[in-house]
Amino acid sequence: MNTKEALKNYPGGNYISTLDDMEPVEGKRVFVRVDFNTPIKDGVVTDNTRIKAALPTLEFLLNQGARVICASHLGRPKGMVKEELSLEPVAQELGKLLGKDTVFSHEHYGMAVKNETRELRKGHVLVIENLRFDPGEEKNSGDFAGRLAHLADLYVNDAFGTCHRAHASVDALARLFEKRFCGRLLEKEIAALGTIMHNPERPMTAVLGGAKVSDKIKVVETLSQKCSKIFIGGAMAYTFLRALKVETGKSMIENDMVGTCAKMLERAEKNKCKIYLPVDHLLADSFSEPGEAIVSDNAHIPSEKMAFDIGPKTIELYTRELTGSRTVFWNGPMGVFEKPPYDHGTMAVAKAIAELDAPIKICGGGDSVAALNKSGLADQFTHISTGGGASLEMLEGKPMPGIEALKIYK
Ligand code: ADP
Ligand code: MG
Repeated sequence: MNTKEALKNYPGGNYISTLDDMEPVEGKRVFVRVDFNTPIKDGVVTDNTRIKAALPTLEFLLNQGARVICASHLGRPKGMVKEELSLEPVAQELGKLLGKDTVFSHEHYGMAVKNETRELRKGHVLVIENLRFDPGEEKNSGDFAGRLAHLADLYVNDAFGTCHRAHASVDALARLFEKRFCGRLLEKEIAALGTIMHNPERPMTAVLGGAKVSDKIKVVETLSQKCSKIFIGGAMAYTFLRALKVETGKSMIENDMVGTCAKMLERAEKNKCKIYLPVDHLLADSFSEPGEAIVSDNAHIPSEKMAFDIGPKTIELYTRELTGSRTVFWNGPMGVFEKPPYDHGTMAVAKAIAELDAPIKICGGGDSVAALNKSGLADQFTHISTGGGASLEMLEGKPMPGIEALKIYK
């Protein structure tokens, strides 16, 4: 996929500049908002996936001799300094990946760090401290943004996972720069998810699962207007089954969503989108003591049992009915995949999509991506979204503050 072209599939995407629109940046100070929200244990980064994901943008700038100022949040320090959430270990890990030393600043702004940006050697990186140590970040404070703006000449946003939040470093700050750009990772995300929303190759299908139907109902709604089939699994399937008066035993249900699910099923039918629900399940006794995993006879769940995963007939049905899809979007595990054997359904769906001969196969969502990585089939997908909440909000069709802020209407 040509991402620059595909970006236009997103509303107003043609008003967003990418790194390809940038004039040479040798010696320029470029502020890059990245997503370095990585797990850290005892001062060491334990999973550097997100840091690696930022490398295409960073290397593009560094190879031209830019002075790069990297900024990110990490965890939820709630506007206070929390040593264990310092970005210093991340700066070290980034240095290793880039093969050159990075400079780390405990400050966000002020004379010292401003001087450091000027003294930074061309082609080198300065990482500033966790943005959320300052209360201004989450408040989208213009004052905080104004101070950060003094650090750089140009602005790049490459933090897709934060774009759905109006925080200072992605919203107020971006708007202070006349020269603001979308980084490589963000460009890829907007292109992939924008294509699903606005210009998919049809037939398009979606596999949706996960814990809470209330989290996902808007996505079911928007996708039902675009997909020919939607396959539902995970705990949210049971609220839908309840809406059809199927016995759901002790399964996780959101009672206040049963009516909404019933209406959703009606609307989908009007939209000519077929919604598939599980026809059998893998059952458990309880969360704390699942007991023996047994398969239900049919869609009904015995009163003393809870459904923890889709069953073998459902796997077969979903796998068969996915055939012929040209675009597939997957969000949400089919079961309690953290507790084998209740990972069966999720792994089977990962395999079914991986083996499909479809040009576009996208997976989004924190837990779904974790499950996909565990399956070892991630490379069979065309795009894996790095943003959990952000990818869902994008598919709900909501304007995202971090993306809106990049648009420049000429
Ligand atoms: P994602 O992060 O991919 O968007 P969610 O956060 O919505 O996915 O859902 C993932 C969670 O849903 C997992 O922790 C999983 O254990 C839970 N889950 C899936 N199926 C069930 C089920 N049948 N009963 C209870 N929890 C479930
Ligand atoms: Mg999740």
